[in-house]
Amino acid sequence: MTSAPPPGEFDLIARYFAPLAESFPGALGLKDDAALIDVPKGRRVVATMDAMVAGVHFLPDDPPDLIARKLMRVNLSDLAAKGAEPYACLMAISLPHGTHEAWLQAFARGLAADAAEFAMPLIGGDTTATPGPLTLSLTALGLVGDSEGREPGPVLRSGAKLGDRIFVSGTIGDGFLGLQAVRGEHGALAEGPRQYLIGRYRLPSPRVALGRRLASLAHGAADVSDGLIADLGHICKASGVGAEIQAARMPLSDAAQMLVARSPELLASLLSGGDDYEVVFTADPADSDRISAIAQEVGVPVTDIGFIVGGDKVEVTDAQAMDLVLGAAGYRHF
Ligand code: ADP
Ligand code: MG
Repeated sequence: MTSAPPPGEFDLIARYFAPLAESFPGALGLKDDAALIDVPKGRRVVATMDAMVAGVHFLPDDPPDLIARKLMRVNLSDLAAKGAEPYACLMAISLPHGTHEAWLQAFARGLAADAAEFAMPLIGGDTTATPGPLTLSLTALGLVGDSEGREPGPVLRSGAKLGDRIFVSGTIGDGFLGLQAVRGEHGALAEGPRQYLIGRYRLPSPRVALGRRLASLAHGAADVSDGLIADLGHICKASGVGAEIQAARMPLSDAAQMLVARSPELLASLLSGGDDYEVVFTADPADSDRISAIAQEVGVPVTDIGFIVGGDKVEVTDAQAMDLVLGAAGYRHF
């Protein structure tokens, strides 16, 4: 016996979630106990799951469509970092008692938009009621390889090599600043850049196309969700290497640059804050030009921020190559 489902659980699944299963025959229209997954010959499944809890990962009154899309996207970001092609997802939701139909409608609308945009049908899950906060969990399945072994991947955290350059996609720190803006900080910022940062916090851009294209070139990669330094640290630990990155090379959005210009000490927080959903990866310096060409083709900037060294530390230097002292690296739940 588990917590009672909300009344109308089956109607709810049929109305709001079954349409997202239509493109995947093995989902059986969400009308059976479980889904059937065919794995194309020679390919492997990459599986990942991220949970989101109201009050921890988003605010309870955030727009429901954006909550749904963020749930999809944080998981897509993990697939992107492994160089995987999105395949299907499963979702567990625990809805607070009294959740309104309008909320569900908007939530399902957002989920459907991203399921279509990223070709990620929803093939199963579970729906319960809870006396606690809204809790969501999504399992994303991706594919790597092809039957001829032509498509490479997955890119693991453990593949970084001495002498590799370190690259990061997009811009760093927007999610961290966006959360602060949602909470009412950065009031001095003009409305345009403020809304940009909030948008980056609420709706990350998983680098799926970039990740797939990099799969043949990247040696080690990780999704940047806990903070750049912490996630680069994960690569280093898994690969048995150290890293040296230059703060002055960090790709910052215009909005982040404005804030750092006013408060230079903010830069350290951007490097260790979280919610970026970018990809940090390492590659042979000889492949730099090919990486730039891929970045151009997919329309996502990629910046060289440093290199892999011996040892086991992530060191951050400033423009004068002085070590910066950073606080606790990365967001920790416990
Ligand atoms: P069971 O009782 O076996 O747990 P349910 O009655 O909870 O199954 O679910 C019926 C079908 O609907 C199953 O295929 C399940 O995977 C799917 N389903 C339930 N909740 C969700 C959800 N939140 N998202 C997607 N599919 C769901
Ligand atoms: Mg059930």
